[in-house]
Amino acid sequence: MFGGDEKLESIYKEVTDRNPGEAEFHQAVGEVLSSLSPVFAKYPEFCDYKIIERLCEPDRQIIFRVLWEDEKGELHINRGFRVQFNNALGPYKGGLRFHPSVYLGTVKFLGFEQIFKNALTGMPLGGAKGGSDFDPHGKTDREIMNFCRRFMTELYQYLGDETDVPAGDIGVGSREIGYLFGQYKRLTHRFEAGVITGKRLNWGGSKVRTEATGYGLVYLMDEMLKDHKKSFDGMKVTISGSGNVAIYAAEKVIQLGGKVIAMSDSNGVIHDESGINVETIKQIKEVERKRIKEYAKFHETAAYYDGGNIWKIETDIALPCATENEITGRDAETLVKNGVIAVGEGANMPTTFEGIKVFLDAGILFAPAKAANAGGVATSALEMVQNGRHDVWTFEYTDKRLKEIMKDIYKNCSGTAEEYGKPGNLIMGANVAAFIKVATAMVDQGIV
Ligand code: GLU
Repeated sequence: MFGGDEKLESIYKEVTDRNPGEAEFHQAVGEVLSSLSPVFAKYPEFCDYKIIERLCEPDRQIIFRVLWEDEKGELHINRGFRVQFNNALGPYKGGLRFHPSVYLGTVKFLGFEQIFKNALTGMPLGGAKGGSDFDPHGKTDREIMNFCRRFMTELYQYLGDETDVPAGDIGVGSREIGYLFGQYKRLTHRFEAGVITGKRLNWGGSKVRTEATGYGLVYLMDEMLKDHKKSFDGMKVTISGSGNVAIYAAEKVIQLGGKVIAMSDSNGVIHDESGINVETIKQIKEVERKRIKEYAKFHETAAYYDGGNIWKIETDIALPCATENEITGRDAETLVKNGVIAVGEGANMPTTFEGIKVFLDAGILFAPAKAANAGGVATSALEMVQNGRHDVWTFEYTDKRLKEIMKDIYKNCSGTAEEYGKPGNLIMGANVAAFIKVATAMVDQGIV
C-alpha cells in the first residue's frame, strides 16, 4: 500500500489497531500516508517529532448524549460528537454533520481530512469535525430547534472564536446554524459571531458562503481544465447529490457554458440531456425540502430513475457532490469507458481507493476533495475575518477572494506534484503540500 515503506506500513497498522471498526478513518489516513514516503526522505525531523503519529491521534474527542423532546412530548436520545484534531495552524475548524449514519469513524475521517484541506486554503485554520446520528429528515422546525439547543448546551464549553469554530455539513444548513448560535449566545451572554460560520447574511454571515463549496469546486476544475487547454464550455457534466454543494456547482458550471445533464439524491437520479434547470432544483430542495423526483413533474424532457446509478450516464466531467465512497472501482471503470475526461470531488472522500486507482491509471484529470472542495471552509475563514473586524464585504469582493484562493490551491498542488516527481497527480500534490505546512508548524511549536 505504501510502496514498501516499512515505517509507513507500521504507522498505518498502529492506526488501524488503535481505532478498530472505523473503516472510513482508516481509508482517509491510508490515502494521505500513501503520498508521504518522499517527504520523510527530505524532512527527517518529521520522523523524530512523530508528526504523523501525532496527527493520527486527535487532540481531543468529545462524545456526549443529546436528549431532546419531539412535538408529541416523546423523548429521544442521540449521540453528539466533536473531534478536535489539530490546531497547529489556527483554531479548530470544521463542520457538523447530522445524519443517521454518523458514528465516531465518520467524524474522525472528516476531521482528519479537514486538517489538510484547511491547510491548503492558506488561511489560519486548524482541523476538526463534529456531528450527530440525529436524522433531520421529516422533523418539524421546532424539533430541529430543540435538538440544536440540546446539542449546543453540551458543546458550547469547548467552542470559541479563537478555540473551535463549527459550521455546516450534510444535514446542517443556515437554519441549524441559527439555532446553534442562538443557544451559544444565550449560554455565554456574548454575541460572538466568529464562533460559528455559515450564518445567515442578516446577522453576521458572509456573502458567497452558501455558494462557496460548489463555486470553489468549479473554479478549481476550471483552472485544471485550462491548464490542459480545455474548458467547461460545451461540456456535459454529471453532478451527484442535490444539496448545497451540488446545487452551486451546477449553477457555476452552467454560468461557464457547461451543460449539467444529471443530478441525484439518495433515492434516485434525474437525467435530462437538454440540461437541468438549477432554479427548479433550488425550489425543490432549498425551499420545499422535497425529493429530487419532483423535478420530472416540472420538466418533461427529464427522466427520473428510482434507485438509479448516476455514474452509468455518459458524461465528459463528473462531479461527485453527495457523500463518501459514492464512486466505486466499477463506477470509475464505467465512467472511463464512457469517455470521462475529468473528475472533481465536491463531497468529502467520494471516490473509493479502487476508484482513484482506475482514474489515475487511465490518466483522467482528477481533483481530490481536500483541494477541490476547500472553497467552503476558505469562505468560512473569510466570514471569520469579517466577523473579527465587524465588517461586511460585497458579493463581488468575496467571490474574487474565493476565486484567488482556489487558483492558488490548484497552483500549489500541481506545483508540489511536479516537484515530487508526479506531475499532474493532484492527490499527491495536495497531500504533500498540506502535510508539510502542518508538520513544519508543529515542529516550530515544539513537543506539545
Ligand atoms: N463541512 C465543510 C467542509 O467539509 C465546511 C466546513 C467549514 O466551513 O468549517 O469543508
